[in-house]
Amino acid sequence: MDVNETAVQQVARMGYAAEDVRQIVLTHMHFDHCGGLGDFPNATVHVHEREYQAFRGIPHQLTDLAYVRRHVAHAARLVLYKEQGESWYGLPAIRLPFQREMWLVPLYGHTRGHCGVAIRMDVGWHFHVADAAPIALEEYAPAWLVNVVLGPHTDRLRAFAAAHPEVRITTGHMWLDFFRNAIVQVF
Ligand SMILES: [Zn+2]
Repeated sequence: MDVNETAVQQVARMGYAAEDVRQIVLTHMHFDHCGGLGDFPNATVHVHEREYQAFRGIPHQLTDLAYVRRHVAHAARLVLYKEQGESWYGLPAIRLPFQREMWLVPLYGHTRGHCGVAIRMDVGWHFHVADAAPIALEEYAPAWLVNVVLGPHTDRLRAFAAAHPEVRITTGHMWLDFFRNAIVQVF
């Protein structure tokens, strides 16, 4: 609820204008993940088609209550994706049309179209799994919370992390200390 924490303010502190942000990739469309879209009216928004349909449709699971339709009221330019049979690290995935290799990785459950996003770094990969896992993979949420809110992927993601140390994994609600201690330079 602090305006200084909004994406547009953080982008400004990095020395960019809002208009410099041209592409936004969404993991899902909950208010806390896309509430700032209106600050970037010139950006194209990339999201899984299942997620957009869930966002527009009639709520039918608990986590649907976190959709706020006015967050795309500024007529965001949307590009919708669906699976084409490709995979990333053995996970079904959708290649995004960017020069730097990026994949939308479906992790349905938290919402009907929730996806992770994998980005090839200069060394290794960054895999943002958003709300498919607890605050940190090494933290354990109660089983009921995992079942009702996070979806069925956390154990699989922990195994994936253990098997692939070259992939840095972040989640959607990590403590700020993580980022202070490990600044991630993507571009
Ligand atoms: Zn969410």
